[in-house]
Amino acid sequence: MYRAEFDDPAAEWFGLPTFNYRHAPRGLATRRQLAAKGLTPGRQGIAAQILWRRGRRRAYLYREDQAVPKREATPAQLRALMKAWVTLSTCPTCEREFDHYIPRRFGECLDCHEAATSFTPATGLEVA
Ligand SMILES: [Zn+2]
Repeated sequence: MYRAEFDDPAAEWFGLPTFNYRHAPRGLATRRQLAAKGLTPGRQGIAAQILWRRGRRRAYLYREDQAVPKREATPAQLRALMKAWVTLSTCPTCEREFDHYIPRRFGECLDCHEAATSFTPATGLEVA
């Protein structure tokens, strides 16, 4: 038997438009349903909710027409990118991290490179 205990499309009781499980109107989707279509809610707020199991289970609904395509990079990919960035922007000599890549032809930051090339040992030998 269908019970309408959680039907509140006008948001009079629950503060959000609320529907029973499987009775949400078309055009609204859960985050998981959006993800299955390669979408995320984007910047929109929660549009409605569905309640089931006597209100103990809840899922938020988002407007599908305001959803945006999911970004390409996964969290794992972003972590890998950040790690690569840190490696490429950290000077191996002084271990300082810069907001730019360490020049590859020097292999160290400009400060270290300058110190190394301007330093002339007492022997008079050039530092390679
Ligand atoms: Zn350095």
